[in-house]
Order: sequence, then C-alpha cells, then structure tokens
Amino acid sequence: MLRRTLDDLTSADLAGRRALVRVDYNVPLGPDGGVADATRIEATLPTLRRLLEADAKPVLLSHLGRPRGAPRPDLSLAPVAPLLGRLLGVRVDFAGPADSQGALERSRTEAETVLLLENTRFLPGETRNDPDLAARFARLGDLFVNDAFGATHRAHASVVGITEHLRPAVAGLLVEAELAALGALRGDPRPPFVAAFGGAKIQDKIPLLESFLERADRVLIGGAMANTFLEAEGTDMGASLVEEEAVEIAADLLRRFGDRLSLPVDVVAADPSAPGAGRVVSARTVPADLAALDIGPVTVSAFCEAVREAGTFFWNGPMGWFENEAFAAGTVALAHAAAAATRGGAFTVIGGGDSASAVRGAGLMDGVSHVSTGGGAALEYLARGTLPGLEALDEA
Ligand code: ADP
Ligand code: MG
Repeated sequence: MLRRTLDDLTSADLAGRRALVRVDYNVPLGPDGGVADATRIEATLPTLRRLLEADAKPVLLSHLGRPRGAPRPDLSLAPVAPLLGRLLGVRVDFAGPADSQGALERSRTEAETVLLLENTRFLPGETRNDPDLAARFARLGDLFVNDAFGATHRAHASVVGITEHLRPAVAGLLVEAELAALGALRGDPRPPFVAAFGGAKIQDKIPLLESFLERADRVLIGGAMANTFLEAEGTDMGASLVEEEAVEIAADLLRRFGDRLSLPVDVVAADPSAPGAGRVVSARTVPADLAALDIGPVTVSAFCEAVREAGTFFWNGPMGWFENEAFAAGTVALAHAAAAATRGGAFTVIGGGDSASAVRGAGLMDGVSHVSTGGGAALEYLARGTLPGLEALDEA
C-alpha cells in the first residue's frame, strides 16, 4: 500500500500553510492527571519538527481514551500542550474544541506556533465518521498529515472522513517508519523468520497468528495464549486463564501448523487468588488449583535460543503475567534474546501495547529494530497489509 508522505511534499507545499496533523496522543495518564508515558508524543516529534522547519503551522488533532461523544475533564488533552512544548522547544497552545469558532480563528492567527485541539472523541460524530464533523475538522488546515499510526485502523472522522475535504492528505514520518518496519515483515523477511505470540487475547489475534503461521519458519507461543493451545492438546490447565471459545480454533491451528508451532514444556504456576512466588511444573501436569502465569526455565531457554538464531523476529504479547515481577522472567528473557538477535544483525519488531511496555520496562527500546506505537493498528496492518486511514490518503 504505497501512499504519499510528508517526504513527498516540497517547501512550497508547506511554507506558511496550516498543517492539520492527526496524532495519536492516546497516552496513559497517571493518578495526578499528568502524562504517565510520553512515548507516543515523542514519536511524533520528527513530523512536527519537519513542519516547523518548513515554516508550516502544525494544528494537532488527537483522541484520548473513550469518552463516548461527550466532554470528560479527566480525558482532556490540555495537560499534553505544555509537555509537548517542552519536548519541541516551541510554544504549544491548547485551543479547546476542534469544532469551535475560537479554534478556527486561532488556526488562522500567525502568532501561535503549534496549536493542540481538544480530544476529538468529545465530539459525537468522531467515531461515526460523521461527514459534517469531518468537514468542520478540515476547516482547521490547508493540508492533512496522518501521523496517528495507532488510530489508522479506525474509520473515524479525524482519520478517514477528513480526507474527503482536505488535500494533500499524506502520511507523516511516524506512519512512514511504521509502514517500512511492518511492511518488511510482510515482504521477504530474512530467514529464519521467527515469531513469538503471547498475551491474553487469542480471538482478536487469530488472523495475525494465521498469517504468521503461514509464513514463519517457527512460531513460539507463550503467555495465556499458550494455555488455550495446551488445553486444545488435551491438557487440563487447572486454574489457568484459558479462552474456552478459542480452544477449537487452537486445535485447528495445531492440526494445520503443528510442525512449526512451539508450545511451553514447563510453566511457572501459582494459586491465582494468592499468587506468591510460583513453582515450576510440567506444562502437561498443571495442578488443579494452580494457574500457569509464566513460561518455565526449560521453555525460556528453548524460546530464547530460537530468537537468538532468527534472521527476522516479530513478537506480540507477553510470555506471562509480566506486570507481577514473580512472573516476568519469561517476558524479560525474551526481550533480551530479541536484543541479542538485533546485535547479531537480525531485524526485530515488537508490536502490541503490553509487549512494547514490557520491552520498555526492560530498558530495551533502543535494543531492537522497531517497537511499534500501533497496538491494534500494527496487528491489523500485519494481517491485512492495509488500513482504512491509509487508503484515505493520497496515492504515492
Ligand atoms: P499486547 O498488548 O502486547 O497485544 P495482550 O493485551 O494480548 O498483549 O496481553 C497482555 C496481557 O496478558 C498482560 O496484561 C499479561 O499480564 C497477560 N498475560 C499474559 N500471560 C498470562 C498468563 N499466563 N496468565 C494471565 N495473564 C497473562
Ligand atoms: Mg494489550
């Protein structure tokens, strides 16, 4: 899916113009209401710097959380403006609702450098892709840049509808980088091509899992996802988290792709109502009152060896309940194996919100080739090779 990008625009396209940029500032907020993790904000800096250098005026649209079409003070984007200003080193003004006359006027004044608008999902038409709202958004810019990779799988007014009213409509530098990294996995990955899946949501991930099972040399499965596969093999998983509705699908995938699919041979199990340290048990004999919460040491070394030998590695979903330190060993070890593979020349990509935060927690953000900011968008792009918000942009 080739789309025109910010790189394709000339300084004449940009100078003195209002660049309406859809960003993904759907950031986690701390208990004090401040931004708890600025990764998604930092990821947009290259696009914003490029626009400022070209003398364009960035006007930013984003959603935050799920306010369902009505204002919610705790989901305001106002706290992002000063933080973004510090990161960019220029003034960032918060301009309130995107459909207001005030915002329109401020988009047209020359004094302000960067303008940030209020949460697009405070407006009822956003998630319905309402054409009137899209037209009102479009009045705020002279051209459109989509740099909200994490929202590009959504057919929403600020992502898709807006492009009916505003051209050029191009991909920003973050979206371009995401497509380059994820696209390389879809293209002709250097063998051995190894993928690891974990986490909890097997049903959401079936199309993705299937597309990797069709193309990868080896697919490692850990985390709660493995429990469902082990159950499909006939093992009683005790008190483990198992997606009962997905057991049949797991059984089918095992029949079709069993030769390239690796499941845990041992797990760290604990009483889920009083999880202490946990103990290592065979993945075939999980005691009835215990839950498998991490992959065990024998599995860890087998999985890590496969990762270190990969030419290309993709990982989605933690290997266990990594938020609890007692069950994080498998996830942390896999992150280090990914970094080791990267140092050895492998191309390594992490996709998925929790997987990315596990890699960040291990201090390895710069140790792998690419950590997607995309979550669901990354998984959908990998499975389908396109996204609604990309199709809406100018063709390359
Ligand atoms: P991602 O966001 O990377 O796509 P998911 O959202 O699918 O990953 O899954 C992450 C969640 O799965 C984490 O909260 C993690 O604690 C949980 N998880 C992983 N393995 C287990 C397990 N064995 N038992 C319970 N929860 C698990
Ligand atoms: Mg998640």
